[in-house]
Amino acid sequence: MSKLFAIFGDPVSHSRSPLMHNYLFKTLHVDACYTRVHLTNGSQLKETFLSLGLYGANITVPHKEAAYEACDEVRGFATTIGVVNTIILENGKMIGYNTDADGFMEAIKPFGAIKSVLILGAGGTAKALVNRFLQNKYKVTVLNRSAQRLTYFKDLNITCDTWESFTCKDYDLVVNTTSAGLKDDLYPAPKAQIEEILSHTSFVADAIYGKVTPFLELAKDKNIIYKDGADMLLYQGVLANHLFCDKQFDLDTTAKIMKKSFNL
Ligand code: NDP
Repeated sequence: MSKLFAIFGDPVSHSRSPLMHNYLFKTLHVDACYTRVHLTNGSQLKETFLSLGLYGANITVPHKEAAYEACDEVRGFATTIGVVNTIILENGKMIGYNTDADGFMEAIKPFGAIKSVLILGAGGTAKALVNRFLQNKYKVTVLNRSAQRLTYFKDLNITCDTWESFTCKDYDLVVNTTSAGLKDDLYPAPKAQIEEILSHTSFVADAIYGKVTPFLELAKDKNIIYKDGADMLLYQGVLANHLFCDKQFDLDTTAKIMKKSFNL
């Protein structure tokens, strides 16, 4: 019987995941299909997953924490951050994983050795990336618009600042994990502060994909090597698919095929 997969989110209509996974299934003759489910209430994730007879799923905003709660068992990095973006049904049990952070690490490989990172934003994505960077022993600083969400990062004993308290140092990489620039033309911090930051970094990355944000535009003007969130999206999907297909195909093959779906 054909295996059914889905992405849960709210909103979810914009997601590229169905295209990426279905293109892979079709190309490699996997008897499976991937759809999208608009879920407004995260507490209904488990019953919806089970009633649809799903074999696996991805979870996007705002249900990644609810997905952690919904799982019978959580494995790997997801246990550290309490955030799940991939679920597999194994012997009737929902097993949770997180592929976002490893997806980002794969995306920044072309930048070479990184030792110090400045993260702009303090939401769910920042949480995943910061914990992953700390595992790699990077020196991490978090800069956020408001103080409230910095409490979590202060508890990790890393340097945390709001725009008002921030003093710029030198960084290998600056990452925008805020949603500034997603649906507006805002910078992730006041423009003068961003300009100063950009003159103190070698590389820049943005989690946002599908457009050049004002932040990336400024990096481009200053001839800094940058990338948007497309590769992060790609590699979290590659790692999720690897789990969906029971590691049947190697990661390079999966990445090459999924990348082609971006041009469809
Ligand atoms: P959250 O809602 O958890 O966090 C949003 C963060 O952005 C907060 O720190 C918030 O600051 C900050 N912020 C929002 N608006 C502004 C603004 N105008 N100026 C400065 N800071 C602002 O979001 P997520 O972490 O889930 O997602 C963040 C971004 O990453 C989104 O754009 C999302 O699309 C993208 N993303 C991309 C992925 C990919 O595969 N490429 C995967 C996951 C996410 P405050 O605390 O002050 O409110």
